[in-house]
Amino acid sequence: MATPVPVHEPHKFKTIRQIAFPSIDARKHNLAAAHFNVFNLTPPQVSFDMVSYGSGAMTQEQLAGQFIGDEAYAGARNFETLCGNINRVLGHTHVCPTHNSLGSVKILLHVFAESGQRLPSNARGRVDLHAPRGIELYDVRDHGQDVFTGNFDLAALEAGIGASRPPFIGAQAFADGQHPVSLANLRAARALADRHGLRLVLDVSRVVENAWYIQRYEPGMGDRTIADIVKQFAKTAHVILMDGAQDARANTGGFLATDNPADHEHFINEIVVFEGLHTYGGMAGRTMEVLARGLAEMCDEPTVQWAMQQTERFTARLRAAGVPLERGCDGAYLRADAFLPQVTAYPEHALACALYQTAGVRALVQGLAGRGEHLLPLQIPRLAMTNRQLDQVADAVIALHRQREQVPALSLERDGQWHDELRFGAVFADFEPVAFDCEPYLAHTLEPIAVTTREQRLQAMREAGWNTFLLRSADVAIDLLTDSGTTAMSTAQWAAYDAALPTPATSSAYLEFAAAIRDVYGYEHVLPTHQGRAAEQILSEVMIRPGQIVPGNMYFTTTKVHQEYAGGVFADVIVDEAHDPTSLFRWKGNIDLAKLEALVQQHGAAQIAYISFELSVNLAGGQPVSMDNLREVYAWTRRHGIPVMFDATRAVENAYMIQAHDPRYKDTRVKDILREMMLYGDGATVSGKKDFLINIGGLLTFKDNAEWARKSEAKLRIYEGGVRDGGLPAADLAAMAQGVREMVDDRYIQARVGQAQRLAGWLREAGVPVVEPTGSHAVFIDARRFLPHVDQDEYPAQRLSSEIYIETGVRTMERGNVSSGRDPDGSNHHPALELVRLTLARRVYSDDHLREVANGIIRLWQRRESIHGLRFVYEPKDLRFFQGRFEPMEAAAAV
Ligand SMILES: *Cc1c(COP(=O)(O)O)cnc(C)c1O
Repeated sequence: MATPVPVHEPHKFKTIRQIAFPSIDARKHNLAAAHFNVFNLTPPQVSFDMVSYGSGAMTQEQLAGQFIGDEAYAGARNFETLCGNINRVLGHTHVCPTHNSLGSVKILLHVFAESGQRLPSNARGRVDLHAPRGIELYDVRDHGQDVFTGNFDLAALEAGIGASRPPFIGAQAFADGQHPVSLANLRAARALADRHGLRLVLDVSRVVENAWYIQRYEPGMGDRTIADIVKQFAKTAHVILMDGAQDARANTGGFLATDNPADHEHFINEIVVFEGLHTYGGMAGRTMEVLARGLAEMCDEPTVQWAMQQTERFTARLRAAGVPLERGCDGAYLRADAFLPQVTAYPEHALACALYQTAGVRALVQGLAGRGEHLLPLQIPRLAMTNRQLDQVADAVIALHRQREQVPALSLERDGQWHDELRFGAVFADFEPVAFDCEPYLAHTLEPIAVTTREQRLQAMREAGWNTFLLRSADVAIDLLTDSGTTAMSTAQWAAYDAALPTPATSSAYLEFAAAIRDVYGYEHVLPTHQGRAAEQILSEVMIRPGQIVPGNMYFTTTKVHQEYAGGVFADVIVDEAHDPTSLFRWKGNIDLAKLEALVQQHGAAQIAYISFELSVNLAGGQPVSMDNLREVYAWTRRHGIPVMFDATRAVENAYMIQAHDPRYKDTRVKDILREMMLYGDGATVSGKKDFLINIGGLLTFKDNAEWARKSEAKLRIYEGGVRDGGLPAADLAAMAQGVREMVDDRYIQARVGQAQRLAGWLREAGVPVVEPTGSHAVFIDARRFLPHVDQDEYPAQRLSSEIYIETGVRTMERGNVSSGRDPDGSNHHPALELVRLTLARRVYSDDHLREVANGIIRLWQRRESIHGLRFVYEPKDLRFFQGRFEPMEAAAAV
């Protein structure tokens, strides 16, 4: 059965590549320096490079394969893996590896063809490879087709063969990226080849997209899997060749394969001359492994359906706006001549320049110039972009289309045979620039997520005792349990991670990290710890004398525990609005100065250890502190000689909230806002697993007090590790240093917080009760208002979070009666807030994931009366939310 079109990616982002966003002035400068040929631009000059060749996202399996290339000259294991997978996926037994498809074509023509021959093919794109060899490629495509425009005109093929015997018949799956071939037609071409004693040679570089068209449009094929169609299609040819940088999503590599041992022998006799040895063919071992794994995965049904849905959606958006284009298997191929009728020469180059100037988007013209096609392909790098990004790229093209009359012609300054040789001169038009607010990164590697049925999820939930903490991650599609340590690291972080040199002394990674902290926070003393709570322990022991008061704006679990262990007494000084889930006050994280004043009146300033000042207050729902409050509290503490210690775990998110909601800061960079915020404190603890964009790490830092730093270092050595590493390997320190630089990027933090705002917006629109205003790292659903008919002692939030999993595969967390535990008298604590928390990992999920989260919850909202409560079947004494097991009330009633 063909899988239905998935509504979100069947994977999450595992690692990401940052995107550059050069200014319009920089883009004009770059264009001039590139002689108005976008071929000469480099990736740091480009925001979205719309080419699909070798630019796809790998899976984590492929990335792992990259590191197990055995790099042997002869008989590499990776070659064996490659042969096995080619045989399994494409059905051919004998493999001749090559460095890429040019290598394959080189061998093929050398073995089978000679100068002066004419070669029939359904593809034109490879004419540039044949012409210089004196081989004339001629078109035998059936131009009367609607869908399968790549089909052979069998009569024309027959006639052509009659006129001059070709070396073989050339076929391409999804010819030239635009023309799919039906299986029936390919089989007919095969039969024809057999009748004439000719080989059918098929390029399967884009076989997956072609198979999708067969599945969707060829009669009788709708219930076949992509894998099945791909194999049948490939097996139809005598010889296949493939470029590894297309469907298999390697960055290079290729092969020829056949079932004919004699042909194979011819190929491998040439391989030593032209490519390498017959067991590596000019590929590194790692390339063979990445290619082999990519082959094994490329027919994964949900992934194929997702990728094709992206192409269809992107194309439809452009088409609906009247942009002239032709179908591409991997994007939309703009018809530059129809787009720019006023530009008679090189309209494709003029369009490419205008698109880059207005939006920083590159579309590339390749191959031989002067073929008169004037197509500008906008290809989607396979699986690397989100729909939000693609929509915005499409909108940039549409915006340019509206201004198309202003696009100037280019003047040719240097002619050449190939597009990449051309140079132009031009004048700039005054286009309206396009601004992006999508994710400022691309997927680099992907991690598959669970695709499950409702029945499977119900079973998993029963096994987990109706407790989302007890679910296996392998059963979870979208994990919104926590934003702690769940970040996708960037390639820059991984590069730093790999390069870091370990030492128990002072590592360069430490110095980098300390420099980043001094730059971003302006604090002098930098003590790394393995997590935030370790920093909290040390801070509490150094700063608190037993019996002292520690006022804080609400509390965080680990923070409070360490203050109490050190003999401190926590006092809540957050504004009253923070405790009211319906209050719309914007700065619910603020400290109430009157409450501070009262503490000093009662106990005296000397009895206050320090102010424990959390930013983006987690337990209040990620609620921000205003800049005014930071200033006022600091001024007040200066009068009383009381230090201010931040919990800066989500300080960047707080800085963004100030930029977004305090008009005085709307044009100030987040980095500068953060720097001002940190002025109003004397030190900070940080859980690096949040803002710092890493999976493990923490920080204790002091602005300038050397005595606190020295005392803390003494404890660091005993509790954590070396004084310059805090128990973290240099690699993690290096990744953390890079994460600190990335976290203050305005586009990144806006995209992150924007996700929470949009998710809350979709829920709110449908009437689902959410806590207001939405914070920066999570969305909270009010389970009391969602399930008013469920008694709080039947754990409405616990049940709701279980139902959300069963409905959608989304894992959330209860924050209500179960989490708050029992009072000393044994009765439930009955907290005011009975919430389900949806927490967003950083750089991991797309809006499509979150849209499905919202849709699933809205479906539950619509049938909320049918949802009942839970009762404990196993209740641990402490922290019962981690291990507790439940059963539905209706099951209990049925017994
Ligand atoms: C996560 C967190 C901590 C604890 O940090 P760990 O790295 O988990 O030890 C402290 N404070 C806040 C606000 C947090 O969110």
